[in-house]
Amino acid sequence: MVDRDALAERYHAIKASLPPHVRLVAVSKTRSVQEIQALYELGQRDFGENYPQELREKAPLLPIDINWHFIGHLQRSNVKHVLPFAHLIHGVDSEKLLDEIEKRAAGLDKTIAVLLQVHIAQEETKHGFSSDELNALVETGPSPRQRWPHIHVRGLMGMATNTDQADLVTSEFRALGDLFRDLRARALFQADQFNVLSMGMSGDADLAVGAGSNMVRIGTAIFGERSSTGA
Ligand SMILES: *Cc1c(COP(=O)(O)O)cnc(C)c1O
Repeated sequence: MVDRDALAERYHAIKASLPPHVRLVAVSKTRSVQEIQALYELGQRDFGENYPQELREKAPLLPIDINWHFIGHLQRSNVKHVLPFAHLIHGVDSEKLLDEIEKRAAGLDKTIAVLLQVHIAQEETKHGFSSDELNALVETGPSPRQRWPHIHVRGLMGMATNTDQADLVTSEFRALGDLFRDLRARALFQADQFNVLSMGMSGDADLAVGAGSNMVRIGTAIFGERSSTGA
């Protein structure tokens, strides 16, 4: 049974805490179809999933106007499973992965929207391009639009160090915000549509928004603690 009143209370508190320009992705990994449906009925349309198998199982059982965000670490072998569902893929962290998405998207005759993940945390376990790698990617050789014509790079995504040191988290988010604005100003991607900065989760969304985030990915603060933890 879903405790709808508790869910509504937490959801409305989160919504009220976010400025209107910040899009909320409700992270629904490990949550049941019933929980997702209940949040959908409160008006939420953007949901984030981490695991291809889970996305493939749940998406067909839920309303078709849900925007599914793939926020997990995506392996090349799973690209084909994720593409049919994904509205936006957040964690694109290598040129090889871009090549694979391009190949599969071309096969489906689709354009896929992605965010490039940038490594901003001190933890080695987190994924993403370094800012040097990202600059090399956009500065050398053909432009991203030419190399990956079926991919639409909509912005950047990052995860801060998992710590309660607010100053460290803030400086990491600010660094990502600066990189985002710099790339945007240089118009390397379609500038008018390179406009998504996905940063901030339950524990650090306020710091992320303060540093310029316009998309937050929030699970626990909406649905409660997860019994099994996601990556
Ligand atoms: C699980 C997850 C989230 C949500 O985390 P919460 O702490 O539950 O809000 C956000 N982003 C990514 C990439 C995640 O894996």
